[in-house]
Amino acid sequence: MTDSTTPLTAGAPQPVQQRGLALIRDPLLNKGTAFTENERAALGLRGLVPPPVVSMDDQVTRIMQNVHRQHSDLDRYTYLETLHDRNETLYYRVLLSHINELTPIIYTPVVGLACSQFSQIYQRSRGMYFSADAVEHFAEMANNWPEDDVEVIVVTDGSRILGLGDLGANGMGIPIGKLSLYVVGAGLHPRGTLPILLDMGTNNQALRDDPLYLGRRIPRLTGPAYDTVVEAFMRAIRARWPKALVQFEDFSNDQAFQLLERYRRQLLCFNDDIQGTGAVTLAGILSALRITGQTLSEQRIVFLGAGAAARGIADTIVAGMMAESGISLDAARRQIWTLDSQGLVTLDRLDSLSEHKRPFAQNSAPLPNLLAVVEAVQPTVLIGVSGQAGSFSEAVIREMHRHCERPILFPLSNPTSKSECTAEQAYEWTNGAALFASGSPFPPVTRGGHLLVPGQCNNMYIFPGVGQGVVSCQASKVTDAMFYVAARTLAELVGEDSLAVGRLYPDLTLIREISVKIAVAVCELAFAEGLAGIERPANLEAFIRARMFIPEYQSYVAA
Ligand code: NAD
Repeated sequence: MTDSTTPLTAGAPQPVQQRGLALIRDPLLNKGTAFTENERAALGLRGLVPPPVVSMDDQVTRIMQNVHRQHSDLDRYTYLETLHDRNETLYYRVLLSHINELTPIIYTPVVGLACSQFSQIYQRSRGMYFSADAVEHFAEMANNWPEDDVEVIVVTDGSRILGLGDLGANGMGIPIGKLSLYVVGAGLHPRGTLPILLDMGTNNQALRDDPLYLGRRIPRLTGPAYDTVVEAFMRAIRARWPKALVQFEDFSNDQAFQLLERYRRQLLCFNDDIQGTGAVTLAGILSALRITGQTLSEQRIVFLGAGAAARGIADTIVAGMMAESGISLDAARRQIWTLDSQGLVTLDRLDSLSEHKRPFAQNSAPLPNLLAVVEAVQPTVLIGVSGQAGSFSEAVIREMHRHCERPILFPLSNPTSKSECTAEQAYEWTNGAALFASGSPFPPVTRGGHLLVPGQCNNMYIFPGVGQGVVSCQASKVTDAMFYVAARTLAELVGEDSLAVGRLYPDLTLIREISVKIAVAVCELAFAEGLAGIERPANLEAFIRARMFIPEYQSYVAA
């Protein structure tokens, strides 16, 4: 254990209590071959590591050679997780220095594959498991976690992992991956992060039949039984870490909305599938509007899909329209049309609609499919969150372009194979006029000598900065307005050179700077709205930067 008074900041002196193998086996403190001669002498390390003292850069080179030597992306994931479990400082240095190459490995899409096979590739426990049959021990279990200064918890019940459905306890790969992105993206200290799997059983029979499965082999809890376990969990968490941010992740729709509604006013929490997606998509639209010179409130926006992502994006756009032009909630909602598998969501269908679809039901005649809606509505923005590959057909996009000079096209369904259209199709069917961003990355396209760079609408642009912001100022809650300022801040950070090639998001290599700006904007709002739990530091940006974990080795003994 480190000295509990040590600040969560790299660069500060870091006395350690461990020596010898215990020090090497602590992933938060291990330096492997990089322990200095003085450390080897003072901390009983002589003979326990190869003699040469290796620089961190050379360690990174060795790791990347091994990453490239692996035979598959799943092998690369597993290899990086062993590094994560062995030497966290080096793991984060490797990720930060190869961010574009490695984030798709540690998070989507490869993390989906890792979750599918989590019980098979499992090596070592990371994070915590709260199982519904242990509900009376939840408080005691929270106390078993060694860190008092947990700042961010990401929790899933594994019920809707990415586009893969119910993966039960195998869903643990998601909180682990998401928290790695918090550290990489916004410099949350690894010691302050806690991945949690809430095991409510699984309805995935194949998993229940798998002898290696690491979760409870019972049907998922539902209704009051489910709610009781969640409530006990939230109480235990709040009692142990009252200031921690709780991020709900990959809960099925029926739970995601009601959990958010139940807890968002009680404690510091949010749902990234809903709110984070909303903010990053709005940011992309705002960037596109910087190109067209239009306002948000002028847009007519059609969604194919009416699930968690659609609702989150639609709510954030509505908040944006209201803040921008002062139009009413109702007027803003009327600018948005949503389709589910039954066609346009209309008032006629109100009785049979799930709660989360109702606010966007339009007073319209039934329209059976996307083409009919595009013909009737003449949208300027088309967003795909349906998981239906190819559903932005040539007919749909050409019809949209007939009425709209620069169609804003966001096929967001993941992975790439589920995308509603490709970048190349969007550019081809609009003669290069589309302003395009997708959920999964597409390569740049050259048309008539012009380079067109598709954007990736990646939640990673938003949630690390928002998270760093709220925990830095110890905010009492996460508000929709915070996601709106995060979106605006992100859109403003897209350079003119990027906009010139149609690129709607900054390069991911700038993520730390992006997160600083978003964290500052979120804190400013928290201070302005009286939600912050600390006094405003004179220099807020310097305060946030000083809190950020930098993956460099600390000195354990005097040089
Ligand atoms: P969800 O299951 O909550 O919603 C899917 C919606 O699609 C449902 O409303 C369903 O009725 C609708 N649908 C299904 N078939 C349809 C059809 N044929 N026509 C019209 N609608 C149909 O899922 P979600 O969480 O909202 O995610 C949806 C997609 O968005 C996923 O592929 C996910 O990967 C993607 N997503 C992307 C991002 C991002 O790019 N940042 C973020 C979140 C989700």
